[in-house]
Amino acid sequence: IKGKTRLVIEFTEKKNIKPLTWSLVGLDQNRWKIKLFSPSNSFKKIGEGFTKRNTKTAKRNHKSKNTYRTNYDYLKLPQIKKNKFFVVIDPGHGGPDPGAIGIGGLRETDVVLDVSKNVQKLLSEKGAQVRLTRSNEVDMDLPPRVSFANRANADIFVSIHANASRGKRRDINGLETFYYRGWRGRLLARRIQKQILKVSPGSPDRGVKQGRFYVIKNTKMPAVLVEIGFLTGRLDARRLEKSIHRKRIAYAIAKGILEYLSKVGWN
Ligand code: ZN
Repeated sequence: IKGKTRLVIEFTEKKNIKPLTWSLVGLDQNRWKIKLFSPSNSFKKIGEGFTKRNTKTAKRNHKSKNTYRTNYDYLKLPQIKKNKFFVVIDPGHGGPDPGAIGIGGLRETDVVLDVSKNVQKLLSEKGAQVRLTRSNEVDMDLPPRVSFANRANADIFVSIHANASRGKRRDINGLETFYYRGWRGRLLARRIQKQILKVSPGSPDRGVKQGRFYVIKNTKMPAVLVEIGFLTGRLDARRLEKSIHRKRIAYAIAKGILEYLSKVGWN
């Protein structure tokens, strides 16, 4: 029926279901959650996916054992000139500084390092030269991160972080991207923000903002700081703890970077 969606859930026979223990919860204006209390192990875990009408992809997904991989191939990565761009990716925190600690002890340092490595991989495949300011759990001050990018004369600098709300409020979720100054920085921030929102449905858009963070203030090239979600937020944390979502976020960041480089990174 036009304008309506019907969700049908089928059960195998002899399941002992008590409808009164179920609930439909509104998370925000366009996102609902159904809580089903049922005997344990009666559900098969298939993960989260995108709902997009694409018969080609659907067919391929059907055949593929790893549906996760093909789920986000609708995000086609733009081409850039090979070996022309030098990109510095900065995974926030590290070593004795774990950054934000979220629900279930989820640590910012681990989440952003995983995302950063995936961004590096994707950009390298497209022919960009990519270096991480840290590639493992080491203590790294802010000045060497900046001087590394400045000395290397990098084309862009992207610092990746995850948020925590004061008081660890679980109802606060969302993504935001900061730049310090200049239209290039702002444009890079906009491209990345747009893409990370696409892979985080329901999580609020906290916008592209000017920020005075040390690493984006002192780098000479267009530089942004991306906050990929709240580790303390119910919605964001549940996603960020999953490797598949971190891959999607990495894909989105890479896409934003490549869009920027392919359009304005020529001079
Ligand atoms: Zn951080």
